Amino acid sequence: LNRRLAEFGTTIFAEMSALAVTTGAINLGQGFPDTDGPEPVREAAVRALRDGRGNQYPPGPGVPELRTAIARHQLDHYALTYDPDLEVLVTAGATEAIAASLLALVEPGDEVIALEPYYDSYAASIAMAGGTRVPVTLRPSEGRFRLDLDELRDAITPRTRLLLLNTPHNPTGTVLTRAELTEIARLAVEHDLLVVTDEVYEHLVFDDAEHIPLASFPGMRERTISIGSAGKTFSFTGWKVGWVTSTPELVAAVRSAKQYLTYVASGPFQYAIAEALALPASFFADFRADMRAKRDLLSAGLTAAGFDVYRPAGTYFVTTDIRPLGESDGFAFCRALPERAGVVAIPNAVFYDHREAGAPFVRFAFCKRMGALEEAIERLSKLR
Ligand code: PMP
Ligand code: GLN
Repeated sequence: LNRRLAEFGTTIFAEMSALAVTTGAINLGQGFPDTDGPEPVREAAVRALRDGRGNQYPPGPGVPELRTAIARHQLDHYALTYDPDLEVLVTAGATEAIAASLLALVEPGDEVIALEPYYDSYAASIAMAGGTRVPVTLRPSEGRFRLDLDELRDAITPRTRLLLLNTPHNPTGTVLTRAELTEIARLAVEHDLLVVTDEVYEHLVFDDAEHIPLASFPGMRERTISIGSAGKTFSFTGWKVGWVTSTPELVAAVRSAKQYLTYVASGPFQYAIAEALALPASFFADFRADMRAKRDLLSAGLTAAGFDVYRPAGTYFVTTDIRPLGESDGFAFCRALPERAGVVAIPNAVFYDHREAGAPFVRFAFCKRMGALEEAIERLSKLR
């Protein structure tokens, strides 16, 4: 294994899901729903398979039906206009979109700023691109992991090429506010930075929180690569359909890298996701309401079990602090939890360069059936 990748080992998601299988524990670790996405969308995939649509290589940028549907979704939900032929690219999940964006845009030695804790593929993708990651730590304050805009400003140097943003944020559940995004946009324009914004949880925002795409801020559309995922939005994480929207120049750049990673992926599923994106507003509202109820159930259960809970404004993850349980090492806690309580969770420390800053935090996923969440809560209630 080359030096760029050696530090990363096996992803925590593979490790913890394997532990769930061998111990029979309830898996609140890896973020995947335990029920599949909408029946009509599954039927659309079956039809595409049967009718021979997408069984051979689809076009490099993605099938026109899906690119049109992605552009339409950006217009309907955010009033953002993208040309489906030049400004949309279908990828093998958001994971490939992130990797291809960094491989396309980062020169060796360029600095890439990412919010810490960061989704684990960010660090590996920055490394594969030869970039240097510069983490800016979100710190707990008043019940929320908060971005310190002064720290962000201080992290920018003449070598900074790109800001890798994620809102709603995995694993903390933070949704960046309009005021925070306004300032981020101002800094990006002032320092002429590109921004890759991972918005895969765009439809999972709760209560008063609002997802505002960074591309919609003044001066941002021309410097922002926005990333979405059908895995998250429609609960088909196995289909690996993601997408990028940006300018013709930036989309062409990302495509240059993408064509040598997978070339294309997910043929028949692309047609099905084109139909999914056109689902009525009620689908998105129901999805959000279902996840909100699950968030409330799990947050209350974890609080009752003795955790300090950061009730998320978005995503399907809740971050907890284990110190009230007399614990301080999230790694040790998560490795022991399946035996101790029959539940799998993720230690947030894996998402940090400053491991000690993340040590006491543990993430639980609530994209699971109510019954599974209730059972997990029951088991966790015996921890203290
Ligand atoms: N970004 C974030 C923040 C995620 O949480 C995930 C999925 N866990 C991804 C990207 C990857 O998405 P996909 O499955 O579409 O590759
Ligand atoms: N995004 C999912 C999570 O954060 C995991 C995806 C993966 O296993 N790579 O749990």
